[in-house]
Amino acid sequence: MSHPHDLPHVVIVGGGFGGLNAAWGLAGRRVRVTLLDRRNHHLFQPLLYQVATAALNPADIASPLRAVLRRAANITVLLAEVQSVDLADRRLILDEGEMRYDALVLAAGAGHSYFGHDDWEPLAPSLKTLEDALEIRRRVLLAYEMAERERDAAEQRALLTSVVVGGGPTGVELAGALAEISRQTIARDFRSIDPTQARIVLLEGGPRILAAFPDPLPERARETLTHMGVEVRTGAMVTRVTPDAVWIGGEQIRARTVLWAAGVAASPLTRSLGVPLDRAGHVQVAPDLSIPGHPEAFAIGDMATLDDEHGRPLPGLAPVAIQQGRAVAANVLRRLSGEPTQPFRYWDKGTMATIGRAAAVAVIGPLRLTGVLAWLTWLFVHIMFLIGFRNRFLVLFQWAWAYVTWQRGARLITRPWRPKP
Ligand SMILES: Cc1cc2nc3c(=O)[nH]c(=O)nc-3n(C[C@H](O)[C@H](O)[C@H](O)COP(=O)(O)OP(=O)(O)OC[C@H]3O[C@@H](n4cnc5c(N)ncnc54)[C@H](O)[C@@H]3O)c2cc1C
Repeated sequence: MSHPHDLPHVVIVGGGFGGLNAAWGLAGRRVRVTLLDRRNHHLFQPLLYQVATAALNPADIASPLRAVLRRAANITVLLAEVQSVDLADRRLILDEGEMRYDALVLAAGAGHSYFGHDDWEPLAPSLKTLEDALEIRRRVLLAYEMAERERDAAEQRALLTSVVVGGGPTGVELAGALAEISRQTIARDFRSIDPTQARIVLLEGGPRILAAFPDPLPERARETLTHMGVEVRTGAMVTRVTPDAVWIGGEQIRARTVLWAAGVAASPLTRSLGVPLDRAGHVQVAPDLSIPGHPEAFAIGDMATLDDEHGRPLPGLAPVAIQQGRAVAANVLRRLSGEPTQPFRYWDKGTMATIGRAAAVAVIGPLRLTGVLAWLTWLFVHIMFLIGFRNRFLVLFQWAWAYVTWQRGARLITRPWRPKP
C-alpha cells in the first residue's frame, strides 16, 4: 500500500459552495487533499439577509468546515489565507509559509466592487460575511434608536432614511427586508418616531431592477417593492457617498444607513495569476474549468467565468459553483491519471430572488413565478440546500416562527451575538 505522502497532493482554496463540493468529490479517492480557507466555516450566503435582519442567528447558517469534512480521512482542513499563486512553480504563498501542489482548485469566490471608490466601503457596507450581516443589523437598529432621541427634524429624517445601492437580487432582497423591519417588526415599538414612515430608497443605475430576470418579473418586483413602501429609482447612478448622504449627480439624499449591493469583483487572488481576466477580475477558464496554459490548475464558482452553450457567461450563483465543484473533482482525477478531461455543462434548475415575506420572483425552465408561490418555492429550495447543516429543521422552525409572529426581529438585534457553545 502506498504511503499517503506518495499520493498526489490536491489543494483546494476556499470552502464555499464550489470548494466544498470539490472536496466531497475527492473524498475517499487516491489523492491527498488539503482544503484551505481563511475562515473555519462554510457559510450559506443565500440566508445572510435573514441574519442581517435578525430572523436567523449566525450559527444557523454557518457550519465548521472540519465537522463537515470529518469523515473524509484523505482531506485535511487548514485555516489559512492564500495571498498569491505561483502557477509556474505550482506553489501557493500563504499568510504564513507556502504550500506546493500537484493539482489546484481555486474557489475563493467574489466580493463587491465599489467601482474604484474603495473609500465608500466603510460608509456603505455590503453583505458577504457574517460580520457584514451583524454590522448591517447593528447599523439599521442603531439608526432607529438614535432617531428616537433626536430632536432636530432634518437629522431625524436622515436617521430614518436608508438607501440601498444596486437593484440586482441582493439589493432587492435587502430593500424588501428593510421595509419589513420598519413596516412590521418594529412598527409599534417606539414613542417619538413612527418607524412605518421610514424612507427606504433602492437606487439602480440601469433602466430596470433585476435586469437578469425575464419579463414580466422585473416589473412585478418593482410593483411589490413599491407596495411595501420602497422608493425604487432606476437610471440613478450614485456619484458620491458621504457619512450622512448619497449623491446622484447634483441631487443629495440624506441618509444615515447606506448599504451597497452593486457590482461584483472576483477574489483579488486572481490578479496574482498572470492570466487573462474579465473586467470584474474573473479568470476566463477553459471549458474543462482549467486555467489556460496550466492544465493542472482549475478555477470555479464566483472566481471564474465561462460561457454557456448560448455564449452567455454563467451567473454567479450557488448552483453553478456546486455543479462546477463536482465537475472539477472529476477532472482533477482524470488529469492526475492521464485521462482526457471533460467540458463542464451547467444544468440550469432555475433562478429566484425573494423580495420579502411571502413575495419572490422565480424562473424555472419555461415557468415565471411571482408572489407567494415563488416565495414558497424559494423557501423550499433554500431549506433543502441546508443539508449537512446543524439543526436544519430547527432553522426552518425558527424562521417560520419569526415570519408568523414578526417577533424575533429588530427588538433583539442589539443583543451582542455570542457563539453558541
Ligand atoms: C448576500 C448574498 C445572497 C446570495 N443569494 C443567493 C441565492 O439566493 N441563490 C444563489 O444561487 N446564490 C446566491 N448568492 C451567490 C452565491 O452565494 C455564490 O454564487 C456562491 O457562494 C459562490 O460559491 P464559491 O464557492 O465560488 O464562493 P464562496 O461561497 O464565496 O466561497 C469562497 C470561500 O473562499 C474563502 N476565501 C476567499 N478568499 C480566500 C483566500 N485568499 N484564502 C483562503 N480562503 C479564501 C472564503 O472564506 C469562502 O469560504 C448570494 C450571495 C450573497 C453574498
